[in-house]
Amino acid sequence: MFPEILEFPTNSVERPNQVLSTDYDYYTKAFEQALPDYARQELGYGYVEDHPILFYTPKNPNRANKNLLVTGGYHGEEPGGPWAILRFITDHKALLASANISFLPIVNIWGFMNHKRMSPKGKSMNYLVNEKTDDTFIKDLPKELECLKENINTIAERSTDGVIAMHEDNTSQGFYLYLYGDRANNDRLVKALKKAGTIIFDFKKSGTYSDNGQYELVDGLVDNNYDGTTEYALFKRYGAKRAITCETPAKDANIMDRIQTGAGVIKAFVETLTSTFGRTDLMTLHMSYRITALCR
Ligand SMILES: [Zn+2]
Repeated sequence: MFPEILEFPTNSVERPNQVLSTDYDYYTKAFEQALPDYARQELGYGYVEDHPILFYTPKNPNRANKNLLVTGGYHGEEPGGPWAILRFITDHKALLASANISFLPIVNIWGFMNHKRMSPKGKSMNYLVNEKTDDTFIKDLPKELECLKENINTIAERSTDGVIAMHEDNTSQGFYLYLYGDRANNDRLVKALKKAGTIIFDFKKSGTYSDNGQYELVDGLVDNNYDGTTEYALFKRYGAKRAITCETPAKDANIMDRIQTGAGVIKAFVETLTSTFGRTDLMTLHMSYRITALCR
């Protein structure tokens, strides 16, 4: 069951229309209770404020299944991402068996605890590699991203079929996505994510924006994006076949709507990549053929 987060006013950040726990230990405990068959890995070099950066992978991955990664919590003032990940695993347990789904729910632990965007030293948490030059790692990364760099091969092994990063846009009342790679190769996935993202919210208005680098937004999508994020690096350098950054709107939006939307997007991500592109279809076809044959 999804925890009653509205009942945790201690150590919380109150803003209009929302009360949300910023207790990392509480979040972690709830997360682990919801994922009993998962291995908990403390990523090396990842201690922040005496807490480890945590990475969760299935204890018994099925080699026939897709390897998908869901990440969040890069920006601490976007708490809807981590809570959406928790909501996904509590509401859609059955889907966890359909793929090897790994989770990196909170990268910026200090930010989560203090409702702050940047690292404790004010560094950007967004960019891991130099996308403008040669895609090498950025020098002088914050400790949290240094941790991802040190563990990049472990993370990459778990994201070969796709990675999604859950963000929120505190300036937007509309939903949108960044896609790495070409729309043509991701048409069904993009359609499914857009549909899930706009059950409650509308799209962010199409146009050219310069609030997070310059980007061209068309019908809720920034196509063929290049930006140096961790998901971009996994796509560009480490073999992830698909990569998405999801931005759910947070301006004047109810926290539970934001969480529900994020969880729905993750569900669509998993369902589309397992049923449309995965072996599940072949397995189902094979099974139904066998059943038909038996019935003859
Ligand atoms: Zn963000």
